[in-house]
Amino acid sequence: MKYAEAQNHIGGAFLSPETPWLDVFDPSRGTLLSRVPLSTAHEVDAAVSAAQAAFPAWAATPIKERVQVLYRYKALLERDIAELASLVTEENGKIDSEARAEVLKSAELTEFACSLPQIVTGEVLEVSRGVECRVERFPVGVVACITPFNFPNMVPNWTIPNAIALGNPVILKPSELVPLSARRIVELLAEAGLPPGVLQVVHGGQDAVEALCDHPGIAAVSFVGSTKVAKIVYRRATSTLKRCLALGGAKNHLIVMPDANTEMTAANVVASMSGCAGQRCMAASVMVAVSATDHIIARMAEQARAMVPGKDVGPVISAAARERIIGYIDEAEKAGATIVVDGRKAIVKGQEGGYYIGPTIIDHVTPDMRIAQDEVFGPVLAIIRTKNVDDALAIENASPYGNAASVFTENGGVARYVMEKAQAGMVGVNVGVPVPREPFSFGGWNDSKFGVGDITGRGSIELWTQAKKMTTKWNKEAGTNWMS
Ligand code: NAD
Repeated sequence: MKYAEAQNHIGGAFLSPETPWLDVFDPSRGTLLSRVPLSTAHEVDAAVSAAQAAFPAWAATPIKERVQVLYRYKALLERDIAELASLVTEENGKIDSEARAEVLKSAELTEFACSLPQIVTGEVLEVSRGVECRVERFPVGVVACITPFNFPNMVPNWTIPNAIALGNPVILKPSELVPLSARRIVELLAEAGLPPGVLQVVHGGQDAVEALCDHPGIAAVSFVGSTKVAKIVYRRATSTLKRCLALGGAKNHLIVMPDANTEMTAANVVASMSGCAGQRCMAASVMVAVSATDHIIARMAEQARAMVPGKDVGPVISAAARERIIGYIDEAEKAGATIVVDGRKAIVKGQEGGYYIGPTIIDHVTPDMRIAQDEVFGPVLAIIRTKNVDDALAIENASPYGNAASVFTENGGVARYVMEKAQAGMVGVNVGVPVPREPFSFGGWNDSKFGVGDITGRGSIELWTQAKKMTTKWNKEAGTNWMS
């Protein structure tokens, strides 16, 4: 085992609970990396108690003081970027440049949290002579943050900096497939001065998640993962009257018009479908090619073929994921689609046990095929051919998901038309991965998000605070009136 076992972190102490344990594997080699405890309601209970104990003092600390911890945390993320990125590479498999980008994004998320004191100033108005109404924001209480495997460093940082800046203690439940980065997040925040109890980590899977959803001491839950589990978590957490924002899976469509710039489009589409081995909720999954686009597809194929597994594209997360993804490619081929670039036989010398798939481009996919409908979550692009932009939009909008959509064109009118009509929460023009950056908020529509508000940026302020409306009368001469 290359790393020590992952431990829970409760009330400032790292603990190994007496629970069943799960082995954690290195996706690049298929070898044992660590093991992770499968916590139960008992460990969740202890984490909630520790968070509740820390809550009053943390909530009473002025926000300008709370964010001083985050200024230091951001500097520590930057100081340790090489080590943090290599940990992400070890547990998730993504290549070094992608892992570094992930940690840099965590720093950007923290930078936004540092700016919260400038944004969450309250409101005040003299509503009648001597009578003042004001609105102030208060923390909601203990919040749970449940995260997926694909961004072990960044997705926890979607929630942690904003939630704690706004005065809430957090209980992080990382994906059991990638439990290692959580420890460094805790250690760096402690080094930055976060008081014990403000951040807990409870490792595990379904049991831990269910206990978090059920616990009466938790006020709010953020979840990021598949749509299937997002629905379960949203229903369960809200059934116990918690706030919940649950981000789900995706099936992102890129519409490519014949007038699109060949080089820019090919580079963006290939980067979007193959980056992080296609394991991004913003990854291109379907390209809807409108009329004469053969020249762009040919250039994409050249670029995808030139990518070297192990160097330019990392492995997928598990042997099971690899098998599932290859199953989708096999099925599409049998159904009559054309495999233009085939990554099924990818092998990396010296890492034969790794879960590699090379970039795969499949042309002449039809909308009824499973590969056109399901989230594949691998470096695979299905191309569907259409005659015009309305047909392309109809294909995009038939998907139950609604995370991202993009159009590639030189025509501003077409670009605006697609941006208006696409049923997705994040849309782009000539951008393969249209992730909004802070202060803008991240969040999809339809089956890609359940709950109100967004998880990052300004949208998260509503999620992590509750507004108190205060009416005061200090002027003794203020008369009584109809609303006294
Ligand atoms: P997942 O749904 O399998 O797991 C997410 C979390 O839920 C993990 O912490 C896991 O332990 C827990 N979990 C798993 N099964 C559970 C169950 N039955 N009951 C309760 N909890 C359970 O997702 P994943 O495979 O780790 O991540 C990939 C998915 O996440 C993809 O669908 C991807 O699109 C999605 N994702 C979405 C976004 C977004 O912003 N919308 C961002 C990143 C990833």
